[in-house]
Amino acid sequence: MVELAERIKNLPPYLFAEIDELKQKVIDAGVDVIDLGVGDPDFETPKEIVDKAIEAIKKPQNHRYPSYVGMIEFREAVARWYKRRFNVELDPKTEVISLIGSKEGIAHLPLAYINSGDYALVPDPGYPVYPTAVMFAGGEVYKMPLKKENGFLIDLDSIDRDIFAKTKLMYLGYPNNPTAAVADYNFYKKVVELAKEFNFVVASDNAYSEICYDGYKPISFLEVEGAKDVGIEFHSLSKTFNMTGWRIGFAVGNKDVIAALGKVKTNIDSGIFQAIQEAGIYALDNAEKLNGEIMKVFQKRRDQMAEALKKAGFAFETPKATFYFWVDVPEGFSSKEFTKKLLEEKGIVVTPGNGFGDAGEGYFRISITNPRIEEAVERIKSVAF
Ligand SMILES: *Cc1c(COP(=O)(O)O)cnc(C)c1O
Repeated sequence: MVELAERIKNLPPYLFAEIDELKQKVIDAGVDVIDLGVGDPDFETPKEIVDKAIEAIKKPQNHRYPSYVGMIEFREAVARWYKRRFNVELDPKTEVISLIGSKEGIAHLPLAYINSGDYALVPDPGYPVYPTAVMFAGGEVYKMPLKKENGFLIDLDSIDRDIFAKTKLMYLGYPNNPTAAVADYNFYKKVVELAKEFNFVVASDNAYSEICYDGYKPISFLEVEGAKDVGIEFHSLSKTFNMTGWRIGFAVGNKDVIAALGKVKTNIDSGIFQAIQEAGIYALDNAEKLNGEIMKVFQKRRDQMAEALKKAGFAFETPKATFYFWVDVPEGFSSKEFTKKLLEEKGIVVTPGNGFGDAGEGYFRISITNPRIEEAVERIKSVAF
């Protein structure tokens, strides 16, 4: 067979694929597995959204190729929601683009800006798509460690100015997957200042802005003055509305960056099925109600998980946002050893922290996208202590 290209050969195995393989072995052995691994909501998309899509599927005009950048009505709904939610003004024609899930846009952006050898900064631990996308484009990945002592915010002062000078693109994502950390205005302000000084593109991943607890509301990077001069923000309907399988997201912000991403996409894909965009318009226009219902479930689970882990004696910060608990691995284990033992001996799937990058060593990530919380923590505890 023909040899694979270097960019594929040199890729580390996709984290979740490796875990899935071991999980299948354990299931085949007859174990009752509780999966707290992936961040994929376990219950259904709100019925009203599904009904909208069914209606929209029947319209012949939706059966043709969609617009590359998204229906103008969808982009207008995005702009309305951004105004309502973040008080950020967007021009739907030039500052909004639809994406086939935000992962698609995150993965394609480096093709617009990265030449061979150019630097891109990515958080470590972080969403694995950021570094992979940079490598696919031939760029150099520079990892910015997220450390507990900085509240898992990127320590911008610790990065050498020579590195910033070589940088074309910076990815960041708050509320953060996997650490569940959140960012404030001052952090984003510093990012904007650096991007202006050193002339790089900022790509803020805000997929979890609506997965938040106790009345806390995460902000948008674009709320900072001048942010729109330097970057874009990725968003997704996946987490907000339990719509991971539908593949609908968007990017907003700087019009040159949006146009550049659009140019890449025009040569690769042909947009989102319009029926799904119609459902997306409905979801965004009714976001407060639809997401509010979903968040009642996750708020309860977040509370349950925090209490159970605390009682069991684990070390962690209670998340203000995201589906995730970022927990210290108990004494005497590496991340991989602990999570492997949990799966093999107790049928519990959690994610080893180092699967998100070397700086994630010493942690494991628990997702609350499964209702069997107390039971799961009992099993985790029995291995840990
Ligand atoms: C889930 C997730 C996304 C959203 O992915 P979609 O492709 O929109 O489903 C983006 N970024 C992070 C960090 C995520 O965890």
